[in-house]
Amino acid sequence: MTLFRHTPTEIKERSALVINPAKTCQPIGAMYAALGIHGCLPHSHGSQGCCAYHRSTLTRHYKDPVMASTSSFTEGSAVFGGQANLLQSLQTIFAVYDPKVVAIHTTCLSETIGDDVPQITKKALDEGMIPEGRIVFHANTPSYQGTHVTGYANMVTAMVSRLVKKTDVPNDKAVILPGWVEPADMKEIKRILSILGIPFVMFPDTDGVYDAPMTGKHVFYPKGGAKVEDIATAGDAKHGFSLGVTGAQPALDELQTKFKVPGTSLDLPIGLAATDRFVDALRTTFGIAVPEEIEDERGQLVDMLSDMEQYFWGRKVAIFGDPDQLVALTEFLGTMGMNVRHIVTGTEGGYATTRLAEVNPEANIKVGGDMFLLHQWMKNEPVDLLIGNTYGKYIARDEDVPFLRFGFPIMDRQGHQFFPTVGYKGGLRLLEKILDLLMGRIDRDCAENKMELQM
Ligand code: SF4
Repeated sequence: MTLFRHTPTEIKERSALVINPAKTCQPIGAMYAALGIHGCLPHSHGSQGCCAYHRSTLTRHYKDPVMASTSSFTEGSAVFGGQANLLQSLQTIFAVYDPKVVAIHTTCLSETIGDDVPQITKKALDEGMIPEGRIVFHANTPSYQGTHVTGYANMVTAMVSRLVKKTDVPNDKAVILPGWVEPADMKEIKRILSILGIPFVMFPDTDGVYDAPMTGKHVFYPKGGAKVEDIATAGDAKHGFSLGVTGAQPALDELQTKFKVPGTSLDLPIGLAATDRFVDALRTTFGIAVPEEIEDERGQLVDMLSDMEQYFWGRKVAIFGDPDQLVALTEFLGTMGMNVRHIVTGTEGGYATTRLAEVNPEANIKVGGDMFLLHQWMKNEPVDLLIGNTYGKYIARDEDVPFLRFGFPIMDRQGHQFFPTVGYKGGLRLLEKILDLLMGRIDRDCAENKMELQM
């Protein structure tokens, strides 16, 4: 905390120093995505410390134990390579934990050594270490480049390349490839598709995995997750949709290239306009009429937006996080009449640069930036609201700004896994949370004789 109070207002160009990064490492995203396959055990091909860190970050966010295994590299593996460790791991995993699928992701160390994971898994298969009907696949997730979002995207792309099949029998399904969103968001996306009456396969699907109920019984593999046999049908599907360019479009590209499934790349359906585009893309592709239930939900969101506009209008906002969320959120905040002033994402890429400038050309935008810079911007131009993951709480306290926790990780609050922020329903929840913060601040700061019962 003390250090944050010493953040200077004077901004100096930095090229080789990151202070308080707005990102974390690739394998966390790969692990999160892999758990969206039913009966899958994520396997970290590297040292124990990496796996422990990745598991604990997900566990702190979800307040539920996250299962994953590790190749447990030692100094010997660093010198001679990790083949022996991975072969031993696979034998132990199938003997003890009996998963349907093992999704291997690499770490900085195994990538630096240059372990050839496909060769090692082939050897395991040839030598009978992988039981009949079980699947082992992998994604490369070197953490000295990219971020947790890149790791997520790499793992979902690997799912397409390794789990999807093509037969001669086309089906009528939509393939939904969600970017990194919460289990509740995945549930909400499925609910919207069901109301629209569109058959679909969605993967990964963490609904029923990280939000599993307390039953008193330990279940190693929760009931949720996309089933391998369902994922396989994506190669014969009618159309693919990626939701979030950074997290999901690489998988859609793979689906289009390898299986010739036509596809549409969309922003994450957060907020009114992005949800409209999502629903409209489904409507036109599948030639359906939008049911009244969806229209009513949209109408409720528009109603709350117009009723409460006086509290949103012109309020300044600073946000940080992952590109797909930032693009959709910045657009939604604009719809609300709020003035997004500062935007920082730690994940580099042309999409964030281009789309953020499109949805808000007036803001300070740093792609590949850090939270130190965001704090400096806020000191130079104060805001009325800060939005980002748990790490923003120190800046919010220092600057005495209301703080909306949004994104990953959120380690000091609950509810994010249960309540969606996508779709019209999710938009309502976001409005409610933002209003709570803004109105609470008015109640706290206004003169006693200005305290209003009716707001
Ligand atoms: S940055 Fe690399 S070494 Fe560090 S925890 Fe992540 S994968 Fe492991």
